[in-house]
Amino acid sequence: MTKDHYRVEIGGNIEFIEEIPSAVLHGADGIGLYRTEFIYINREQLPDEEDHLAHYRSVVGVKGLSWATIRTFDLGGDKFFPDKKPSRELNPQLGLRAIRFCLKEVALFKVQLRAILRASVQGKLRIMFPMISGIEEIREAKRIFTEVKNELLAKGTELGKDIEIGIMIEVPSAVIVAEELAKEVDFFSIGTNDLIQYVLAIDRINERVTYLYEPLHPAVLRLIKQVVDIGHKAGIRVAMCGEMAGEPAYTMILLGLELDELSMNPLAIPRVKKIIRGATLKESKALLKKVMTFSSTSEIRSFVGAEMRKRFPEDFPANGQ
Ligand code: PEP
Ligand code: MG
Repeated sequence: MTKDHYRVEIGGNIEFIEEIPSAVLHGADGIGLYRTEFIYINREQLPDEEDHLAHYRSVVGVKGLSWATIRTFDLGGDKFFPDKKPSRELNPQLGLRAIRFCLKEVALFKVQLRAILRASVQGKLRIMFPMISGIEEIREAKRIFTEVKNELLAKGTELGKDIEIGIMIEVPSAVIVAEELAKEVDFFSIGTNDLIQYVLAIDRINERVTYLYEPLHPAVLRLIKQVVDIGHKAGIRVAMCGEMAGEPAYTMILLGLELDELSMNPLAIPRVKKIIRGATLKESKALLKKVMTFSSTSEIRSFVGAEMRKRFPEDFPANGQ
């Protein structure tokens, strides 16, 4: 909570269930991003429903966490698939990955959805679909989800009552049609890792262009602001779970944007919380207002750097960022 009582929920990003104790220990309120594709990695056989379920049972309703956000698997792109060899793609980041893959391989998708639904009886669960680029994809994902849910209910399976459905906002087209997407879901979670890659046209794993990978690019900040404003106007929660959420130098900007939840690598939580607790919403909004007037990344970076050094000299030493 900020000094003027603005509360931000803090999530932990995890790839393996073994990281859950670390998320609790470092002060996460819940799991804001469980990257379930890691269940598929490093194994000979595809995981079956029981394999999935065992993982989800370890994260939903566990002591010390108020909620768990399970992202359906995001394979393809820079994340390989263990069994079926994906056809070679020249531009895998623009290829058959994440929700696109799931909507093509529905049987595989349903295995995961069944397990997620079965785990929902244990506690507060949020399901999140990655790489949604337009309304058809979310409608189709929800249709399949409802189909699986009805099949389970028909068999008498007990399910959680208030499963929230959300999408990652990480493709620029999703920002453009966010108003329509907001009507379909309970929450947005901004995936800045991909959003930056796609909006700035920079391959996130290509070292030759990392110098251009810039969270403080005015285009990125404007898109994020647009998503938060549209989400809030529609009455839904807006989270951020990209790496940007765990960078303390950006925390005041993100507070000023009024994100409802920041989800990050558990190790980043204490530093981000320290900034939140030492700032006010009022001053963060004033800082953001100034930031939004700049036209270049370098102006934003030097302004924010100077402000953070002034306010938090211990955390941002003069010779640091
Ligand atoms: C993102 O794109 O910001 C994100 C959180 O997802 P991933 O890094 O797993 O693509
Ligand atoms: Mg992503």
